[in-house]
Amino acid sequence: MEERKKFKVAVIGAGPGGYVAAIRAAQSGQPVALIEKEFLGGTCLNWGCIPTKTLLANADVLHKVKNAHLFGITVGDISFDYAQMKTRKDQVVEKIRKSLEGLINAHKVQIIRGTAELISSHEIKISGQTNEIIEAENIIVATGSRPKDIGAFPFDYKKIHDSTSILALNALPKSIAIIGGGVIGCEFASLYAELGVEVVILEALPSILPLETKAVSAHLTTAFTKKGIKIQTGVFVSKIETTDTGVKVHLADSVVESEIALVAVGRALNVNGLGLEKAAVFVDEKGFVPVNDQMQTNIPHIYAIGDITNKALLAHVASHQGIVAAMNAIGLKAKMHYEAVPNVIFTHPEIATVGLSQEKALEKGFKAVVGKFPFQALGKSIAAIDTEGFAQIIIDQPTGAILGAQVVGHEASSLIAPMTLAIQNELTIESITETIHAHPTIAEAWLEAALIGTGTPIHFPPQPKKV
Ligand code: FAD
Ligand code: NAD
Repeated sequence: MEERKKFKVAVIGAGPGGYVAAIRAAQSGQPVALIEKEFLGGTCLNWGCIPTKTLLANADVLHKVKNAHLFGITVGDISFDYAQMKTRKDQVVEKIRKSLEGLINAHKVQIIRGTAELISSHEIKISGQTNEIIEAENIIVATGSRPKDIGAFPFDYKKIHDSTSILALNALPKSIAIIGGGVIGCEFASLYAELGVEVVILEALPSILPLETKAVSAHLTTAFTKKGIKIQTGVFVSKIETTDTGVKVHLADSVVESEIALVAVGRALNVNGLGLEKAAVFVDEKGFVPVNDQMQTNIPHIYAIGDITNKALLAHVASHQGIVAAMNAIGLKAKMHYEAVPNVIFTHPEIATVGLSQEKALEKGFKAVVGKFPFQALGKSIAAIDTEGFAQIIIDQPTGAILGAQVVGHEASSLIAPMTLAIQNELTIESITETIHAHPTIAEAWLEAALIGTGTPIHFPPQPKKV
Protein backbone atom coordinates (compact mmCIF):
# COMPACT_ATOMS: atom_id res chain seq x y z
CA MET A 1 0.00 0.00 0.00
CA GLU A 2 1.26 3.45 -0.94
CA GLU A 3 2.33 5.48 2.08
CA ARG A 4 -0.10 8.26 2.98
CA LYS A 5 0.98 11.87 2.60
CA LYS A 6 1.24 13.72 5.90
CA PHE A 7 0.69 17.46 6.27
CA LYS A 8 1.10 20.00 9.06
CA VAL A 9 -2.07 21.68 7.75
CA ALA A 10 -4.70 20.51 5.26
CA VAL A 11 -7.19 23.09 4.01
CA ILE A 12 -10.50 22.03 2.48
CA GLY A 13 -11.81 24.55 -0.08
CA ALA A 14 -9.77 27.06 -2.10
CA GLY A 15 -12.01 30.15 -1.82
CA PRO A 16 -10.72 33.44 -0.36
CA GLY A 17 -10.75 31.79 3.07
CA GLY A 18 -9.01 28.54 2.17
CA TYR A 19 -6.29 29.64 -0.25
CA VAL A 20 -5.23 32.52 2.00
CA ALA A 21 -5.05 30.15 4.98
CA ALA A 22 -2.97 27.67 2.95
CA ILE A 23 -0.48 30.35 1.84
CA ARG A 24 -0.12 31.73 5.39
CA ALA A 25 0.37 28.22 6.84
CA ALA A 26 2.97 27.36 4.18
CA GLN A 27 5.01 30.40 5.20
CA SER A 28 6.02 28.27 8.22
CA GLY A 29 7.99 26.04 5.84
CA GLN A 30 5.90 23.02 6.82
CA PRO A 31 3.89 20.87 4.36
CA VAL A 32 0.44 22.23 3.53
CA ALA A 33 -2.31 20.74 1.32
CA LEU A 34 -5.13 22.69 -0.31
CA ILE A 35 -8.01 20.52 -1.52
CA GLU A 36 -10.47 21.91 -4.08
CA LYS A 37 -13.26 20.12 -5.91
CA GLU A 38 -14.06 22.83 -8.48
CA PHE A 39 -12.10 26.00 -9.22
CA LEU A 40 -9.40 27.82 -7.29
CA GLY A 41 -10.77 31.09 -5.93
CA GLY A 42 -14.11 29.63 -4.81
CA THR A 43 -17.38 31.52 -5.03
CA CYS A 44 -15.69 34.92 -4.83
CA LEU A 45 -13.52 34.56 -7.92
CA ASN A 46 -15.74 32.32 -10.02
CA TRP A 47 -19.37 33.24 -9.23
CA GLY A 48 -19.26 36.13 -6.80
CA CYS A 49 -17.16 39.23 -6.20
CA ILE A 50 -15.03 39.28 -9.35
CA PRO A 51 -17.52 38.36 -12.12
CA THR A 52 -20.20 40.67 -10.72
CA LYS A 53 -17.79 43.57 -10.31
CA THR A 54 -16.42 43.01 -13.83
CA LEU A 55 -19.94 43.32 -15.25
CA LEU A 56 -20.61 46.33 -13.03
CA ALA A 57 -17.45 47.97 -14.40
CA ASN A 58 -19.02 47.71 -17.88
CA ALA A 59 -22.18 49.37 -16.57
CA ASP A 60 -20.09 52.11 -15.00
CA VAL A 61 -18.42 52.94 -18.32
CA LEU A 62 -21.81 52.95 -20.05
CA HIS A 63 -23.14 55.34 -17.39
CA LYS A 64 -20.21 57.70 -18.00
CA VAL A 65 -20.62 57.55 -21.78
CA LYS A 66 -24.36 58.26 -21.47
CA ASN A 67 -23.49 61.35 -19.39
CA ALA A 68 -20.59 62.51 -21.57
CA HIS A 69 -22.65 65.47 -22.85
CA LEU A 70 -22.57 66.94 -19.33
CA PHE A 71 -18.79 67.33 -19.79
CA GLY A 72 -19.14 68.88 -23.23
CA ILE A 73 -18.27 65.64 -24.98
CA THR A 74 -20.39 64.53 -27.91
CA VAL A 75 -20.67 60.83 -28.62
CA GLY A 76 -22.70 59.25 -31.38
CA ASP A 77 -25.35 56.61 -30.89
CA ILE A 78 -24.48 54.53 -27.87
CA SER A 79 -24.80 50.79 -28.10
CA PHE A 80 -23.21 47.80 -26.40
CA ASP A 81 -22.81 44.08 -26.88
CA TYR A 82 -23.70 42.10 -23.77
CA ALA A 83 -22.19 38.89 -25.17
CA GLN A 84 -18.85 40.69 -25.38
CA MET A 85 -19.23 41.98 -21.83
CA LYS A 86 -19.88 38.42 -20.68
CA THR A 87 -16.83 37.14 -22.57
CA ARG A 88 -14.67 39.81 -20.94
CA LYS A 89 -16.02 38.76 -17.55
CA ASP A 90 -15.09 35.12 -18.25
CA GLN A 91 -11.61 36.17 -19.39
CA VAL A 92 -11.04 38.21 -16.24
CA VAL A 93 -12.02 35.23 -14.06
CA GLU A 94 -9.83 32.84 -16.08
CA LYS A 95 -6.85 35.20 -15.92
CA ILE A 96 -7.06 35.65 -12.14
CA ARG A 97 -7.60 31.90 -11.66
CA LYS A 98 -4.39 31.14 -13.57
CA SER A 99 -2.32 33.67 -11.65
CA LEU A 100 -3.81 32.40 -8.38
CA GLU A 101 -2.64 28.88 -9.22
CA GLY A 102 0.86 30.22 -9.89
CA LEU A 103 0.81 32.12 -6.60
CA ILE A 104 -0.31 29.11 -4.57
CA ASN A 105 2.36 26.93 -6.20
CA ALA A 106 5.01 29.60 -5.60
CA HIS A 107 4.20 29.36 -1.89
CA LYS A 108 4.80 25.60 -2.10
CA VAL A 109 1.26 24.66 -1.14
CA GLN A 110 0.31 21.27 -2.58
CA ILE A 111 -2.95 21.65 -4.50
CA ILE A 112 -5.04 18.46 -4.49
CA ARG A 113 -8.00 18.39 -6.89
CA GLY A 114 -11.00 16.42 -5.66
CA THR A 115 -13.82 16.29 -3.12
CA ALA A 116 -12.68 16.05 0.49
CA GLU A 117 -14.42 14.18 3.29
CA LEU A 118 -13.18 13.77 6.85
CA ILE A 119 -13.04 10.12 7.84
CA SER A 120 -11.58 10.83 11.28
CA SER A 121 -10.30 13.91 13.04
CA HIS A 122 -6.88 13.62 11.34
CA GLU A 123 -7.70 11.81 8.06
CA ILE A 124 -9.20 13.20 4.87
CA LYS A 125 -10.44 11.05 2.03
CA ILE A 126 -10.22 12.74 -1.37
CA SER A 127 -12.21 11.42 -4.31
CA GLY A 128 -12.93 12.47 -7.87
CA GLN A 129 -10.00 13.88 -9.84
CA THR A 130 -7.65 12.50 -7.13
CA ASN A 131 -8.32 9.41 -5.04
CA GLU A 132 -6.29 9.19 -1.87
CA ILE A 133 -6.38 9.49 1.89
CA ILE A 134 -4.12 12.08 3.49
CA GLU A 135 -3.29 12.76 7.14
CA ALA A 136 -3.06 16.17 8.71
CA GLU A 137 -2.03 17.43 12.14
CA ASN A 138 -4.40 20.40 11.69
CA ILE A 139 -7.38 20.79 9.37
CA ILE A 140 -8.95 24.06 8.20
CA VAL A 141 -12.45 23.69 6.76
CA ALA A 142 -13.31 26.47 4.29
CA THR A 143 -16.06 25.00 2.12
CA GLY A 144 -18.12 28.18 1.71
CA SER A 145 -21.69 28.49 0.53
CA ARG A 146 -24.00 28.13 -2.48
CA PRO A 147 -27.29 29.74 -3.54
CA LYS A 148 -30.25 28.57 -1.43
CA ASP A 149 -32.34 25.98 -3.25
CA ILE A 150 -36.02 26.58 -2.44
CA GLY A 151 -38.71 24.14 -3.58
CA ALA A 152 -41.26 26.87 -4.41
CA PHE A 153 -38.76 28.37 -6.87
CA PRO A 154 -38.15 25.57 -9.42
CA PHE A 155 -34.83 26.67 -10.92
CA ASP A 156 -34.55 25.72 -14.58
CA TYR A 157 -31.56 28.06 -15.06
CA LYS A 158 -33.22 29.39 -18.23
CA LYS A 159 -36.07 31.49 -16.86
CA ILE A 160 -35.61 31.03 -13.12
CA HIS A 161 -32.03 31.80 -12.14
CA ASP A 162 -29.82 31.96 -9.10
CA SER A 163 -26.80 34.27 -8.83
CA THR A 164 -24.55 31.62 -10.41
CA SER A 165 -26.61 30.68 -13.47
CA ILE A 166 -27.47 34.28 -14.35
CA LEU A 167 -23.76 34.97 -14.85
CA ALA A 168 -23.70 32.46 -17.73
CA LEU A 169 -26.32 34.35 -19.81
CA ASN A 170 -25.04 35.62 -23.16
CA ALA A 171 -27.95 37.96 -23.77
CA LEU A 172 -29.99 40.29 -21.62
CA PRO A 173 -33.71 39.78 -21.02
CA LYS A 174 -36.18 42.62 -21.57
CA SER A 175 -37.35 42.38 -17.98
CA ILE A 176 -36.33 40.72 -14.73
CA ALA A 177 -38.06 40.14 -11.40
CA ILE A 178 -35.52 40.00 -8.59
CA ILE A 179 -36.70 38.09 -5.53
CA GLY A 180 -34.85 39.47 -2.52
CA GLY A 181 -33.68 43.07 -2.09
CA GLY A 182 -30.52 42.12 -0.18
CA VAL A 183 -26.98 42.67 -1.38
CA ILE A 184 -27.05 40.31 -4.37
CA GLY A 185 -30.52 41.48 -5.46
CA CYS A 186 -29.53 45.16 -5.32
CA GLU A 187 -26.20 44.70 -7.13
CA PHE A 188 -27.89 42.83 -10.00
CA ALA A 189 -30.74 45.38 -10.06
CA SER A 190 -28.19 48.17 -10.44
CA LEU A 191 -26.35 46.33 -13.22
CA TYR A 192 -29.42 45.31 -15.20
CA ALA A 193 -31.15 48.71 -14.90
CA GLU A 194 -28.04 50.47 -16.21
CA LEU A 195 -28.04 48.07 -19.17
CA GLY A 196 -31.63 48.99 -19.98
CA VAL A 197 -33.48 45.98 -18.56
CA GLU A 198 -36.84 46.60 -16.82
CA VAL A 199 -36.22 45.63 -13.20
CA VAL A 200 -38.61 44.94 -10.35
CA ILE A 201 -37.29 44.07 -6.88
CA LEU A 202 -39.61 42.07 -4.62
CA GLU A 203 -38.50 42.18 -0.98
CA ALA A 204 -40.29 40.58 1.98
CA LEU A 205 -39.06 43.05 4.61
CA PRO A 206 -40.10 46.73 4.84
CA SER A 207 -37.07 48.05 2.89
CA ILE A 208 -34.40 46.97 0.44
CA LEU A 209 -31.03 46.34 2.12
CA PRO A 210 -32.93 45.73 5.36
CA LEU A 211 -29.74 45.13 7.33
CA GLU A 212 -28.36 48.57 6.52
CA THR A 213 -28.98 51.75 8.47
CA LYS A 214 -32.19 53.61 7.49
CA ALA A 215 -30.38 56.59 5.91
CA VAL A 216 -28.53 54.22 3.58
CA SER A 217 -31.44 52.02 2.45
CA ALA A 218 -33.67 55.10 2.04
CA HIS A 219 -31.02 56.78 -0.14
CA LEU A 220 -30.66 53.70 -2.36
CA THR A 221 -34.45 53.35 -2.66
CA THR A 222 -34.67 56.93 -3.96
CA ALA A 223 -31.70 56.48 -6.32
CA PHE A 224 -33.07 53.19 -7.70
CA THR A 225 -36.56 54.65 -8.15
CA LYS A 226 -35.06 57.54 -10.16
CA LYS A 227 -33.38 55.00 -12.43
CA GLY A 228 -36.78 53.40 -13.08
CA ILE A 229 -36.25 50.32 -10.92
CA LYS A 230 -39.60 49.27 -9.44
CA ILE A 231 -39.39 48.31 -5.79
CA GLN A 232 -42.07 46.41 -3.90
CA THR A 233 -41.28 45.90 -0.22
CA GLY A 234 -43.23 43.97 2.40
CA VAL A 235 -44.13 41.37 -0.25
CA PHE A 236 -43.31 37.72 0.32
CA VAL A 237 -42.80 35.69 -2.87
CA SER A 238 -44.53 32.35 -2.32
CA LYS A 239 -44.12 30.71 -5.71
CA ILE A 240 -42.62 31.21 -9.16
CA GLU A 241 -43.88 29.45 -12.26
CA THR A 242 -42.61 29.48 -15.81
CA THR A 243 -44.88 30.31 -18.75
CA ASP A 244 -44.28 30.20 -22.52
CA THR A 245 -43.07 33.77 -22.49
CA GLY A 246 -41.44 34.13 -19.10
CA VAL A 247 -42.23 33.78 -15.43
CA LYS A 248 -45.10 34.51 -13.07
CA VAL A 249 -43.99 35.49 -9.59
CA HIS A 250 -46.71 34.98 -6.99
CA LEU A 251 -47.13 37.40 -4.09
CA ALA A 252 -49.87 37.12 -1.42
CA ASP A 253 -52.54 38.86 -3.53
CA SER A 254 -50.95 39.62 -6.89
CA VAL A 255 -48.73 38.22 -9.62
CA VAL A 256 -45.71 39.91 -11.19
CA GLU A 257 -44.78 38.86 -14.72
CA SER A 258 -41.37 39.21 -16.33
CA GLU A 259 -39.11 37.50 -18.84
CA ILE A 260 -36.81 35.96 -16.23
CA ALA A 261 -36.52 35.79 -12.45
CA LEU A 262 -33.42 36.01 -10.27
CA VAL A 263 -33.76 34.42 -6.85
CA ALA A 264 -31.43 36.14 -4.37
CA VAL A 265 -32.82 35.14 -0.98
CA GLY A 266 -29.62 34.15 0.80
CA ARG A 267 -27.03 31.37 0.83
CA ALA A 268 -26.91 27.76 2.02
CA LEU A 269 -23.70 26.79 3.86
CA ASN A 270 -21.63 23.84 2.58
CA VAL A 271 -21.46 21.71 5.72
CA ASN A 272 -23.12 18.49 4.57
CA GLY A 273 -21.30 15.51 3.07
CA LEU A 274 -18.04 16.70 4.59
CA GLY A 275 -17.84 13.99 7.24
CA LEU A 276 -17.76 16.57 10.04
CA GLU A 277 -19.68 14.11 12.23
CA LYS A 278 -16.91 11.51 11.77
CA ALA A 279 -14.47 13.97 13.30
CA ALA A 280 -17.06 14.91 15.99
CA VAL A 281 -17.13 18.53 14.79
CA PHE A 282 -20.23 20.27 16.09
CA VAL A 283 -22.57 21.85 13.54
CA ASP A 284 -25.26 24.21 14.86
CA GLU A 285 -28.89 23.31 14.09
CA LYS A 286 -29.01 26.40 11.84
CA GLY A 287 -26.32 24.75 9.71
CA PHE A 288 -23.16 26.70 10.56
CA VAL A 289 -19.97 25.67 12.32
CA PRO A 290 -19.43 27.55 15.60
CA VAL A 291 -15.85 28.70 16.25
CA ASN A 292 -13.94 30.56 18.95
CA ASP A 293 -11.88 33.69 18.28
CA GLN A 294 -8.93 31.54 17.22
CA MET A 295 -11.21 29.96 14.57
CA GLN A 296 -11.15 26.57 16.34
CA THR A 297 -14.23 24.36 16.25
CA ASN A 298 -15.09 22.24 19.29
CA ILE A 299 -12.23 19.95 18.11
CA PRO A 300 -9.17 22.18 18.78
CA HIS A 301 -7.02 21.09 15.81
CA ILE A 302 -9.94 21.46 13.37
CA TYR A 303 -10.59 25.06 12.36
CA ALA A 304 -13.50 26.52 10.36
CA ILE A 305 -13.34 29.77 8.39
CA GLY A 306 -15.35 31.77 5.88
CA ASP A 307 -19.03 31.55 5.07
CA ILE A 308 -19.55 28.28 7.00
CA THR A 309 -18.90 30.17 10.25
CA ASN A 310 -21.84 32.47 9.37
CA LYS A 311 -20.08 35.48 10.93
CA ALA A 312 -20.23 37.71 7.83
CA LEU A 313 -20.55 36.28 4.34
CA LEU A 314 -17.74 38.40 2.94
CA ALA A 315 -14.55 37.45 1.10
CA HIS A 316 -12.29 39.70 3.17
CA VAL A 317 -13.68 38.29 6.43
CA ALA A 318 -13.03 34.75 5.13
CA SER A 319 -9.44 35.73 4.24
CA HIS A 320 -8.75 37.33 7.61
CA GLN A 321 -10.24 34.34 9.43
CA GLY A 322 -7.96 32.19 7.23
CA ILE A 323 -4.86 34.04 8.39
CA VAL A 324 -5.94 33.71 12.04
CA ALA A 325 -6.67 29.97 11.68
CA ALA A 326 -3.40 29.32 9.83
CA MET A 327 -1.33 31.19 12.41
CA ASN A 328 -2.84 29.21 15.26
CA ALA A 329 -2.42 25.95 13.33
CA ILE A 330 1.32 26.57 12.87
CA GLY A 331 1.77 27.40 16.52
CA LEU A 332 1.57 31.21 16.48
CA LYS A 333 -1.05 33.13 18.41
CA ALA A 334 -3.77 35.12 16.63
CA LYS A 335 -7.33 36.21 17.38
CA MET A 336 -10.17 37.19 15.06
CA HIS A 337 -11.96 40.50 15.61
CA TYR A 338 -15.13 41.85 14.00
CA GLU A 339 -15.36 45.47 15.25
CA ALA A 340 -14.02 46.97 12.05
CA VAL A 341 -15.36 44.88 9.16
CA PRO A 342 -16.00 47.01 6.07
CA ASN A 343 -19.10 46.16 4.09
CA VAL A 344 -19.35 47.42 0.53
CA ILE A 345 -22.35 47.19 -1.76
CA PHE A 346 -21.39 47.80 -5.38
CA THR A 347 -24.60 49.42 -6.54
CA HIS A 348 -24.78 52.74 -8.34
CA PRO A 349 -24.43 54.72 -6.07
CA GLU A 350 -21.95 52.59 -4.12
CA ILE A 351 -22.54 52.03 -0.42
CA ALA A 352 -19.90 51.31 2.19
CA THR A 353 -20.19 50.97 5.94
CA VAL A 354 -18.01 50.02 8.89
CA GLY A 355 -18.64 49.71 12.61
CA LEU A 356 -21.89 50.89 14.19
CA SER A 357 -24.78 52.81 12.70
CA GLN A 358 -26.20 55.58 14.92
CA GLU A 359 -29.25 53.40 15.69
CA LYS A 360 -27.03 50.47 16.82
CA ALA A 361 -24.71 52.76 18.79
CA LEU A 362 -27.66 54.32 20.68
CA GLU A 363 -29.06 50.82 21.36
CA LYS A 364 -25.68 49.87 22.84
CA GLY A 365 -25.88 52.85 25.23
CA PHE A 366 -23.40 55.21 23.50
CA LYS A 367 -24.20 58.93 23.34
CA ALA A 368 -23.83 58.70 19.58
CA VAL A 369 -23.86 61.81 17.41
CA VAL A 370 -23.47 62.05 13.63
CA GLY A 371 -21.21 64.24 11.52
CA LYS A 372 -22.67 64.09 8.00
CA PHE A 373 -21.31 65.79 4.90
CA PRO A 374 -23.06 65.71 1.50
CA PHE A 375 -20.93 65.30 -1.64
CA GLN A 376 -22.93 68.17 -3.17
CA ALA A 377 -20.76 70.49 -1.08
CA LEU A 378 -17.39 68.99 -2.08
CA GLY A 379 -15.24 70.63 -4.77
CA LYS A 380 -13.84 67.42 -6.27
CA SER A 381 -17.30 65.83 -6.48
CA ILE A 382 -18.76 68.93 -8.15
CA ALA A 383 -15.85 68.99 -10.63
CA ALA A 384 -16.41 65.34 -11.53
CA ILE A 385 -20.26 65.65 -11.53
CA ASP A 386 -20.42 62.96 -8.85
CA THR A 387 -22.38 64.82 -6.20
CA GLU A 388 -24.77 62.07 -5.17
CA GLY A 389 -24.64 60.82 -1.59
CA PHE A 390 -22.92 61.61 1.68
CA ALA A 391 -20.23 60.54 4.12
CA GLN A 392 -21.09 60.31 7.81
CA ILE A 393 -19.20 59.44 10.96
CA ILE A 394 -20.81 58.14 14.15
CA ILE A 395 -19.05 59.62 17.17
CA ASP A 396 -19.28 58.80 20.87
CA GLN A 397 -19.94 62.28 22.29
CA PRO A 398 -18.18 61.99 25.69
CA THR A 399 -14.97 60.35 24.41
CA GLY A 400 -14.83 61.37 20.77
CA ALA A 401 -14.35 57.71 19.79
CA ILE A 402 -15.22 56.88 16.20
CA LEU A 403 -17.90 54.18 16.43
CA GLY A 404 -18.87 53.78 12.80
CA ALA A 405 -19.01 55.35 9.36
CA GLN A 406 -21.30 55.15 6.37
CA VAL A 407 -20.72 56.48 2.89
CA VAL A 408 -23.01 56.48 -0.12
CA GLY A 409 -21.72 57.71 -3.47
CA HIS A 410 -18.90 57.60 -5.98
CA GLU A 411 -15.86 55.59 -4.80
CA ALA A 412 -17.54 54.70 -1.49
CA SER A 413 -15.80 51.32 -1.78
CA SER A 414 -12.35 52.93 -1.52
CA LEU A 415 -13.43 55.73 0.84
CA ILE A 416 -14.32 53.28 3.62
CA ALA A 417 -10.66 52.24 4.11
CA PRO A 418 -9.50 55.19 6.27
CA MET A 419 -12.53 54.83 8.57
CA THR A 420 -11.85 51.09 8.89
CA LEU A 421 -8.27 51.88 9.90
CA ALA A 422 -9.51 54.52 12.36
CA ILE A 423 -11.99 52.18 14.06
CA GLN A 424 -9.56 49.23 14.10
CA ASN A 425 -6.99 51.44 15.81
CA GLU A 426 -9.49 53.07 18.19
CA LEU A 427 -8.80 56.57 16.89
CA THR A 428 -10.87 59.53 18.06
CA ILE A 429 -12.56 62.18 15.94
CA GLU A 430 -9.66 64.57 16.69
CA SER A 431 -7.34 62.24 14.79
CA ILE A 432 -9.40 63.03 11.68
CA THR A 433 -9.66 66.79 12.28
CA GLU A 434 -5.89 66.88 13.04
CA THR A 435 -5.02 65.08 9.80
CA ILE A 436 -4.22 67.21 6.76
CA HIS A 437 -6.33 65.89 3.88
CA ALA A 438 -5.19 66.53 0.31
CA HIS A 439 -7.28 69.00 -1.69
CA PRO A 440 -9.26 68.59 -3.85
CA THR A 441 -10.09 64.94 -3.09
CA ILE A 442 -13.22 62.98 -2.30
CA ALA A 443 -11.53 61.84 0.93
CA GLU A 444 -11.92 65.39 2.24
CA ALA A 445 -15.54 64.43 2.90
CA TRP A 446 -14.28 62.65 6.05
CA LEU A 447 -12.51 65.78 7.30
CA GLU A 448 -15.63 67.86 6.65
CA ALA A 449 -17.88 65.24 8.35
CA ALA A 450 -15.52 65.17 11.35
CA LEU A 451 -15.53 68.99 11.56
CA ILE A 452 -19.34 68.98 11.45
CA GLY A 453 -19.39 66.24 14.12
CA THR A 454 -17.26 68.42 16.41
CA GLY A 455 -19.38 71.51 15.76
CA THR A 456 -16.61 73.37 13.88
CA PRO A 457 -17.60 73.05 10.21
CA ILE A 458 -15.57 74.98 7.64
CA HIS A 459 -17.25 74.29 4.29
CA PHE A 460 -20.70 73.94 5.78
CA PRO A 461 -23.07 76.30 7.60
CA PRO A 462 -22.63 76.60 11.41
CA GLN A 463 -23.83 73.59 13.39
CA PRO A 464 -24.47 73.09 17.11
CA LYS A 465 -21.32 71.73 18.82
CA LYS A 466 -21.72 67.99 19.36
CA VAL A 467 -18.44 66.71 20.78
P1 FAD B 1 -16.10 29.96 -1.05
O1 FAD B 1 -15.58 31.13 -1.77
O2 FAD B 1 -17.52 29.56 -1.27
O3 FAD B 1 -15.14 28.75 -1.42
C1 FAD B 1 -15.36 27.46 -0.92
C2 FAD B 1 -14.64 26.47 -1.82
O4 FAD B 1 -14.70 25.18 -1.21
C3 FAD B 1 -15.28 26.33 -3.20
O5 FAD B 1 -14.30 26.53 -4.20
C4 FAD B 1 -15.82 24.90 -3.21
O6 FAD B 1 -15.75 24.30 -4.49
C5 FAD B 1 -14.88 24.21 -2.23
N1 FAD B 1 -15.44 23.02 -1.61
C6 FAD B 1 -16.66 22.88 -1.01
N2 FAD B 1 -16.81 21.63 -0.52
C7 FAD B 1 -15.66 20.97 -0.81
C8 FAD B 1 -15.21 19.65 -0.57
N3 FAD B 1 -15.96 18.76 0.09
N4 FAD B 1 -13.99 19.29 -1.03
C9 FAD B 1 -13.20 20.16 -1.70
N5 FAD B 1 -13.58 21.44 -1.96
C10 FAD B 1 -14.78 21.84 -1.51
N6 FAD B 1 -18.02 39.16 -0.85
C11 FAD B 1 -17.29 40.29 -0.78
O7 FAD B 1 -16.56 40.48 0.20
N7 FAD B 1 -17.35 41.23 -1.76
C12 FAD B 1 -18.14 41.08 -2.84
O8 FAD B 1 -18.18 41.95 -3.72
C13 FAD B 1 -18.93 39.91 -2.95
N8 FAD B 1 -19.75 39.71 -4.01
C14 FAD B 1 -20.46 38.55 -4.10
C15 FAD B 1 -21.32 38.39 -5.19
C16 FAD B 1 -22.07 37.23 -5.31
C17 FAD B 1 -22.99 37.05 -6.50
C18 FAD B 1 -21.94 36.21 -4.33
C19 FAD B 1 -22.70 34.93 -4.45
C20 FAD B 1 -21.10 36.37 -3.23
C21 FAD B 1 -20.36 37.54 -3.11
N9 FAD B 1 -19.54 37.79 -2.01
C22 FAD B 1 -18.83 38.94 -1.92
C23 FAD B 1 -19.41 36.79 -0.93
C24 FAD B 1 -18.10 35.99 -1.10
O9 FAD B 1 -18.07 35.42 -2.39
C25 FAD B 1 -18.04 34.89 -0.04
O10 FAD B 1 -18.24 35.45 1.24
C26 FAD B 1 -16.69 34.21 -0.08
O11 FAD B 1 -16.44 33.63 -1.34
C27 FAD B 1 -16.62 33.12 0.99
O12 FAD B 1 -15.36 32.52 0.96
P2 FAD B 1 -15.13 31.04 1.51
O13 FAD B 1 -13.66 30.81 1.35
O14 FAD B 1 -15.76 30.87 2.82
O15 FAD B 1 -15.95 30.09 0.52
P1 NAD C 1 -29.34 38.63 1.82
O1 NAD C 1 -29.59 37.90 3.08
O2 NAD C 1 -28.46 39.82 1.81
O3 NAD C 1 -30.73 39.12 1.19
C1 NAD C 1 -31.79 38.26 0.93
C2 NAD C 1 -33.07 39.07 0.94
O4 NAD C 1 -34.12 38.25 0.44
C3 NAD C 1 -33.47 39.50 2.34
O5 NAD C 1 -33.62 40.90 2.37
C4 NAD C 1 -34.79 38.77 2.59
O6 NAD C 1 -35.70 39.50 3.37
C5 NAD C 1 -35.30 38.54 1.17
N1 NAD C 1 -36.20 37.39 1.01
C6 NAD C 1 -36.02 36.13 1.48
N2 NAD C 1 -37.05 35.33 1.10
C7 NAD C 1 -37.89 36.10 0.38
C8 NAD C 1 -39.12 35.85 -0.30
N3 NAD C 1 -39.65 34.63 -0.34
N4 NAD C 1 -39.75 36.88 -0.93
C9 NAD C 1 -39.20 38.13 -0.93
N5 NAD C 1 -38.02 38.40 -0.32
C10 NAD C 1 -37.38 37.41 0.32
O7 NAD C 1 -28.82 37.52 0.78
P2 NAD C 1 -28.19 37.66 -0.66
O8 NAD C 1 -28.54 38.95 -1.28
O9 NAD C 1 -28.59 36.39 -1.33
O10 NAD C 1 -26.64 37.66 -0.36
C11 NAD C 1 -26.00 36.61 0.37
C12 NAD C 1 -24.73 37.07 1.00
O11 NAD C 1 -23.73 37.26 0.01
C13 NAD C 1 -24.86 38.39 1.72
O12 NAD C 1 -25.09 38.12 3.08
C14 NAD C 1 -23.55 39.08 1.52
O13 NAD C 1 -22.78 39.02 2.70
C15 NAD C 1 -22.85 38.29 0.43
N6 NAD C 1 -22.59 39.22 -0.69
C16 NAD C 1 -21.78 40.28 -0.48
C17 NAD C 1 -21.56 41.18 -1.49
C18 NAD C 1 -20.68 42.34 -1.25
O14 NAD C 1 -19.94 42.33 -0.28
N7 NAD C 1 -20.71 43.36 -2.09
C19 NAD C 1 -22.20 41.02 -2.72
C20 NAD C 1 -23.04 39.95 -2.89
C21 NAD C 1 -23.23 39.04 -1.87
